[in-house]
Amino acid sequence: MRGLKLLSKYLLVLWLTLPSAAMAQRIIETASHNLQEVADGVYFAVGNGSIFVMSNALIIEREEDVVVVDSHITPAASRALIDSIGVVTDKPVTTLINSHFHYDHANGVSSFGPDIQIIGHEYTRAKLAGDPMNEQTFLSSLVRFDRTVATLEERLANAGSAAERAEIQGQLDFNRAHVRATEEVDPVPPTVSMSDRMTLYRGGREIQIHFFGRAHTGGDVGIYLPADKILFTGDMLLGGISYLGDGYVGEWAQTLENLKQLDFDLVLPGHGPAFSDFERIDYVQAYYRDLYAEIVRLRNSGLSAEEAAVRADLRQHADTLGVRDLGANAQAVQRIYALLDGSAD
Ligand SMILES: [Zn+2]
Repeated sequence: MRGLKLLSKYLLVLWLTLPSAAMAQRIIETASHNLQEVADGVYFAVGNGSIFVMSNALIIEREEDVVVVDSHITPAASRALIDSIGVVTDKPVTTLINSHFHYDHANGVSSFGPDIQIIGHEYTRAKLAGDPMNEQTFLSSLVRFDRTVATLEERLANAGSAAERAEIQGQLDFNRAHVRATEEVDPVPPTVSMSDRMTLYRGGREIQIHFFGRAHTGGDVGIYLPADKILFTGDMLLGGISYLGDGYVGEWAQTLENLKQLDFDLVLPGHGPAFSDFERIDYVQAYYRDLYAEIVRLRNSGLSAEEAAVRADLRQHADTLGVRDLGANAQAVQRIYALLDGSAD
């Protein structure tokens, strides 16, 4: 019995060695998440695929309570996150920090109840107190999920073998469940806003919240734990190119330059795995600079946004970021045009 217990514990706790951090980190598997313990009492929460969570979250344990960064894409996803937190601690979650306003990071807030303190940049507050259900980025995601369901339904109708049908049916159930879960979304804006910097000192932990400048949105914040040299970056810094549809591409490289002034060993991005090979930051900075210059050049030559998106040549970033084809993301180019035209702010 004892041996079995030990064995099952061993099986549940995996160890992962980060390629360049040379530090072993424990991963706790819950029903819905892999919780990577990146420092004592600090867990990087990544969905395990059993429920659609879309984005990463961060769990920071203090002496008496827990601070969470980001809340996933739906209340169902954040309830799964809350259950996962219960696997590592029974302390209450008292504070939630929004890295930015996007639906896939902020639409789960309501699960944390009415008593929680929610901290976000004043831009994030304005967006979430405004009309978040009619934000273009959210609406286009709904269209995308509906299209995925329709495509899967069509594939199911044409599937040959029983195994293929079962596989497609599984994907269909997963996506339909997410579409249903979206109906429950009830956005909650931050109860506390900040503009430049804010620091939480409590329960044996210093948590710094930094605004480095506009980047992925007008109000991205980085959450920095100075004692552990860990930085949660939301979507302003991923392992590769971020979504640019609400971004400030012309300012982004400088914002990342400001971010680099902090002393950190590990980046926890809003999507994808943690990383510590920081040349990635240089690669995306160079890409945003070149993309902006290229689109300004094409616009000045009289091309429409649609034409510029087809003609933009960023293939010098093939080796670093895998940009092998001619052209640029159409939403990114439209966004740059809108900012230059003054039709977006
Ligand atoms: Zn985002």
